[in-house]
Amino acid sequence: MLYRVIQRSWLKLLRPPVGLAVERQRTYQVFMQIYLFASLAHIAFVPVLVWLDSLLLQLANLACIAINLTAISLHRHCRFSAALLIKILAIVTLITLGGMLMGQHTGFEYYFFVVLFEILISEMRRRYKLLLGLSLLVLSLVSVNALYGTWGHWPHSEASLRVLHSLNLACAGILFAYIILQMHFITERTELRFRTDASHDSLTGVFNRRAIFERADALWQQGTGFSLLLLDADHFKSINDSHGHSAGDQVLRHLARLLDNTLRDGDSIGRVGGEEFLVLLPGTSRHESQSVAHRLRHQLAEQPCRLDALALPVTLSMGLAQSHEATTLRDLVELADRRLYLAKSSGRDQLVIEGGEEVTAYAGGSAAVRVAGDSLL
Ligand code: GH3
Ligand code: MG
Ligand code: MG
Repeated sequence: MLYRVIQRSWLKLLRPPVGLAVERQRTYQVFMQIYLFASLAHIAFVPVLVWLDSLLLQLANLACIAINLTAISLHRHCRFSAALLIKILAIVTLITLGGMLMGQHTGFEYYFFVVLFEILISEMRRRYKLLLGLSLLVLSLVSVNALYGTWGHWPHSEASLRVLHSLNLACAGILFAYIILQMHFITERTELRFRTDASHDSLTGVFNRRAIFERADALWQQGTGFSLLLLDADHFKSINDSHGHSAGDQVLRHLARLLDNTLRDGDSIGRVGGEEFLVLLPGTSRHESQSVAHRLRHQLAEQPCRLDALALPVTLSMGLAQSHEATTLRDLVELADRRLYLAKSSGRDQLVIEGGEEVTAYAGGSAAVRVAGDSLL
């Protein structure tokens, strides 16, 4: 239960604000995780600093927790630079103070590298990154060589100093690893999203024109025999005219979903025009492709798109071509397109599988089909 609440709150904090550009969401999520993780690391350090018995360090650590929480709030309100700057200022003060009060070899200096890394992966302008990064390097050298040990020295045994050193090394290492892993996961997720957006039609979710033609090209190059089916919704304009454009959109989505449910896993569907789809059926004979078209037509007749109580029936005209019927992919697509055109000019709601004179017709909604005089379906 508690785990669920924490997980939900964590995910809520990671959700980028509405309107934040997609390309900035990755940095947003990475830095939100940094602030959250840093807050937890400071909380985990409370008992260590109590053990060190330094009130100043304890107060500085509590201030760091408060500042990280403020940074989370600023970050959520898209004040990214302000959030990062106060966070950096707080941690740099703490690790400088730690070295000044506890002397050399405490391992506080490792956090300078974590901070440098945070500066370098931030959205800051390059010149500010370089300036801040260089200043930090100089400060770390000055701190370690001139400031550490000026206000005090390690008050406990050598062995306990080694424990603190190892603890700081491990903690800095974990912070590094965590940030890199998060960047990797978030980058992978963002890339997948970009790739999906670039290859899919946003309205229907099927492949877009470029992606489906790339797949057709790959099949063509592999020499795998395939069927290419071009489909066009009949009198689609009248659906828009009678019921509005958004009703038309719903019919297109419904059509794409039916196509997706009707086809096998290896088949691909793409939207190549407004109400025109291209389907690739690898390793499928003409007869099998006809069965697919037949099934699709029946599904569409049985399950018209419903808009509240209103049914919006739509029929399809289809042109089918087999890869072995053409010498280039372009010729193959044109052949399917000519057959689609024949299906339109022969009365719509039908599949054409051969040259101009040979038409497979769904006569008046019945399943009677003729191809060169033979009944096929
Ligand atoms: P035909 O039977 O000859 O194919 O007639 P049609 O009305 O289907 O074809 P036409 O080319 O005359 O009109 C296609 C219509 O498709 C016109 C256009 O407004 C509509 N359309 C294209 N893209 C979209 C879209 O994304 N959403 C909606 N709702 N309509 C679209
Ligand atoms: Mg049409
Ligand atoms: Mg069309």
